[in-house]
Amino acid sequence: MFEGLSGRLGDVLEKLRGKGSISEDDVKEAMREVRVALLEADVALPVVKDFVAKVRARAVGQEVLKSVTPGQMVIKIVHDALVEMLAGEVGGAADDEDEDERSARKRDRVTEALDLNTTPPVPILMVGLQGSGKTTTSAKIGLRLKTMQRKKVLMASLDVQRPAAQHQLAVLGEQTGVDTLPIIMGQKPVQIAKRALDEGRKGGYDVVILDTAGRLAIDEELMEEVAEVRKITNPAETLLVTDAMIGQDAVVVATEFNEKVGISGIVLTRVDGDSRGGAALSMRAITGRPIKLMGTGEKMDALEEFQADRVAGRILGMGDVVSLVEKAARSIQVDEAEKLARRMEKGKFDLEDMLSQFRQVRRMGDVKGLLGLMPGVGKMKKQIEAANIDDSMIKRQEAIILSMTRRERRYPDIIKASRKKRIAAGAGTTVQEVNKLLKQHQQMAQMMKKVKKMGGMKGLAEQMG
Ligand code: GDP
Repeated sequence: MFEGLSGRLGDVLEKLRGKGSISEDDVKEAMREVRVALLEADVALPVVKDFVAKVRARAVGQEVLKSVTPGQMVIKIVHDALVEMLAGEVGGAADDEDEDERSARKRDRVTEALDLNTTPPVPILMVGLQGSGKTTTSAKIGLRLKTMQRKKVLMASLDVQRPAAQHQLAVLGEQTGVDTLPIIMGQKPVQIAKRALDEGRKGGYDVVILDTAGRLAIDEELMEEVAEVRKITNPAETLLVTDAMIGQDAVVVATEFNEKVGISGIVLTRVDGDSRGGAALSMRAITGRPIKLMGTGEKMDALEEFQADRVAGRILGMGDVVSLVEKAARSIQVDEAEKLARRMEKGKFDLEDMLSQFRQVRRMGDVKGLLGLMPGVGKMKKQIEAANIDDSMIKRQEAIILSMTRRERRYPDIIKASRKKRIAAGAGTTVQEVNKLLKQHQQMAQMMKKVKKMGGMKGLAEQMG
């Protein structure tokens, strides 16, 4: 998938890559070509317009980082806009965790992409056109839930249009070792769905996957039938399965299903094929529903989490430039950290400094990151690790400082009872928490004074070893 698009975008951006300076005309010219490339890849027109406008505005207004060229900067902007188009946002929460942590807890990105937090048996409804890969994907999901999450899964085919369909699911069930609902000929989809949930309850199943019938094209009867099934089963996930190869039609299909049935997410199949991929690029933007999974082959284990940044990376094929710009952006934060360190050496440390420190810590990803920048703080690092400072705690403390006026931040001594009450209310917390933060600030400010007495950070480092 994406080969054509990738090649065209590559050509456009390659031209920019080495440029020492970029004019508005350069950006305009490049965006014209990006626009054509996206349209040729079947991306829906409104999505293309939005994309190009966004990139143009950002590219023109953007300050170029010290160590990269303007061309590299534009590539990063295009990359981020692609991620946004695919995910609706930059940097999903899933990426906050590192691989080690994930594997340590035996987590599985595929099953975690699904929201299955209701009382068992949790229904998952699979919808889509005939031949989109619904039945195959049902079995793939069933198998994953069974092996990775040790769930007891029941699958049922509601496809009464094609007698072979129910049989097909039974065969896949046998192949994967996932139970399927016994077939009773002559039952309507709604009856089968009810029977499946009944059986799910009686048999102690965790999840019931309902594979609905598909038609070759959208029709009213199909929509009503599926909507009815959704109403009575109240599924935790309603997944629209779409074939990445169907091009522009995918947008029509997704819109129809989303409006008439309601979907919670999208599964894109045949990503392994040589489709132009534009449908995939449009679907999130058009429906507002996330692409959760992608099918990458006919085999039962060919199912992956849809990761927008990886897919964007694959489209652009310029991972090196993207990470270079990211690194440069991070080094600006290092500059800020150094500025703060100089202030601290002078023994100055008010609540604004504390706020900026919190922000840096959060941006760096972890406390250890910031401490690593300061010379010789081995002991302090251990203490902070022991205190178990985490992101949400820092966010809460930030909220408290943000509820203060500028004057309060500069002169914390003026914060007495009534101000504390107001600050706590503003941050959605208690006066005790405000007190705790003020005390922490005092201790830090005192430490800064000590640091100054000992002759700056170097002195501190010598003391602490
Ligand atoms: P349904 O009619 O929507 O239930 O579609 P099926 O599950 O029967 O799939 C139709 C065909 O597509 C089958 O031959 C599958 O093996 C194939 N298929 C499904 N998903 C994928 C995929 O991700 N990649 C490839 N290459 N083939 C797939």
